[in-house]
Amino acid sequence: MATAAIRDDDAKGRHTTTHRQLIRIPDGGWLMDTPGMRELRLTEAAAGIAATFDDIDSLAQGCRFGDCRHEGEHGCAVGAAIAEGSLDPGRLRRWQKLMREDRYNSETLAEAHARRRAFGRLTREASRFRRDRRQP
Ligand SMILES: [Zn+2]
Repeated sequence: MATAAIRDDDAKGRHTTTHRQLIRIPDGGWLMDTPGMRELRLTEAAAGIAATFDDIDSLAQGCRFGDCRHEGEHGCAVGAAIAEGSLDPGRLRRWQKLMREDRYNSETLAEAHARRRAFGRLTREASRFRRDRRQP
């Protein structure tokens, strides 16, 4: 593909592609060239994730707690499947990563605001705790 010169001031390239393209990588995988787009997000993908990972979804029906995150909770059927070797732990990690991404990308502005405020409160509490510990 055509490329432009690298800029001297910041050593970054310039956009030269003008169309979107999907390129097959010989050893597996695909590369998407999307000129002008800096970021792609997965949104509202819960149904697609559930369909792709239907094995984890059905195992999760057997978890002791309905809100089980399969991160070592007592009575986790997904963890039990990994322990007995019938579920690949990498598959669970991929599912967890996609679920986190979907939660983050699908949150409303109000939810994002609440999350940032809660994080702000946490950092202020941590600073206060650290300061109080230093005083005799
Ligand atoms: Zn579980």
